[in-house]
Amino acid sequence: MTNDTDLRLEKAFKAYGTVKALDHVDLSVRNGELLTILGPSGSGKTTLLRVVAGFAEPDEGRVLLQERDITFLPPAKRDIGMVFQNYALFPHMNVAENVSFPLQMRNMAKVEIKKRVTWALGIVELGEYAERLPRQLSGGQQQRVAFARAIVFDPRILLLDEPFGALDRKLREQIQLEVRRLQQQLKLTSLFVTHDQEEALILSDRIAVMNAGRIEQLGTPHEIYERPINRFVADFIGISNLISGVIEGQDRSVAVVRSKDGQLFLVAADAIPTQGTNVIVLIRPERLVLLDDGAERSNRLSGTVAEVIYLGQSEKLRIDIGGGRDMLMHRQSRLGGVQLEVGSTVNIGWTPEDAHLIVEDTVGQP
Ligand code: ADP
Ligand code: MG
Repeated sequence: MTNDTDLRLEKAFKAYGTVKALDHVDLSVRNGELLTILGPSGSGKTTLLRVVAGFAEPDEGRVLLQERDITFLPPAKRDIGMVFQNYALFPHMNVAENVSFPLQMRNMAKVEIKKRVTWALGIVELGEYAERLPRQLSGGQQQRVAFARAIVFDPRILLLDEPFGALDRKLREQIQLEVRRLQQQLKLTSLFVTHDQEEALILSDRIAVMNAGRIEQLGTPHEIYERPINRFVADFIGISNLISGVIEGQDRSVAVVRSKDGQLFLVAADAIPTQGTNVIVLIRPERLVLLDDGAERSNRLSGTVAEVIYLGQSEKLRIDIGGGRDMLMHRQSRLGGVQLEVGSTVNIGWTPEDAHLIVEDTVGQP
């Protein structure tokens, strides 16, 4: 374990009957970072947090908090703060009493409790609301009280399990940024769970993409989005155009890929697999350009506009490229240029650097 690791899971395994909720997970969370566990429903995210929090014991493996084995330590002794979607506040206690609860549990002196509660409510800017009952607060304010309660005892690590799920979109976006700001201000090591890829991209220092109890990829938001390691990650994060093919050859750092219907595409790649390897070429919708507007690109396809969705500042296009296949394109709206309507014939293109190569053999579990 390196010095900057706060929390580590070592080969954590947990099964419920035949379901492997955690399938030998290795994970290190660095000091002060916000690491997000992102995955679809049922992929094992909550189980992972429960094992870290001590509400569940792994069948195999270990949990280490700052080099100390806490695998079988009771939750209350772990020094871990938690915010859950439905982690309701005590309805009969006012805000200050709610926030002081973890400190009362720790038998802290009254003076010290008062000091810390004032500090925590100040952090979430709810100092004026100390005497209110939870039902006299908005949903967003309640969530901020829950956050204050989670940090008031100066935990070594903060766990958040889909904490914004119950909030409406606008409020959620506001609270997301607030929590991120506080987390950075306090340099609080945090493990955050969500199934919302956009939320993960916005908030995280690093993202671990989970699928069927395993971590498929761990990386920065940029790496996960631009360099997904397999089809599962590519599909789960953002919208992808995927073209299946075979490596035909290479020209220095550019792979030549022959698609199933015989077209050749060029993809820049650091490591190019040997000839004959099955691969997928990934092109994000915002990387595609319209060649009819005068652009030149070494990869090109022609097709027919099948759908136009106008979004004000941008537009989404679905382009039928024949053989029952579509390409999705996302481009900034502009005045002038080619007017695209359903039925128009178009030529689209992209550079080798705009595409990413995925080796089919590393495809995750179905
Ligand atoms: P997520 O939070 O990603 O939706 P969970 O960790 O809740 O996933 O669940 C992972 C898998 O383990 C699912 O198949 C779920 O049904 C199963 N599971 C989780 N908790 C239990 C439990 N207490 N009893 C039986 N099965 C469980
Ligand atoms: Mg869950």
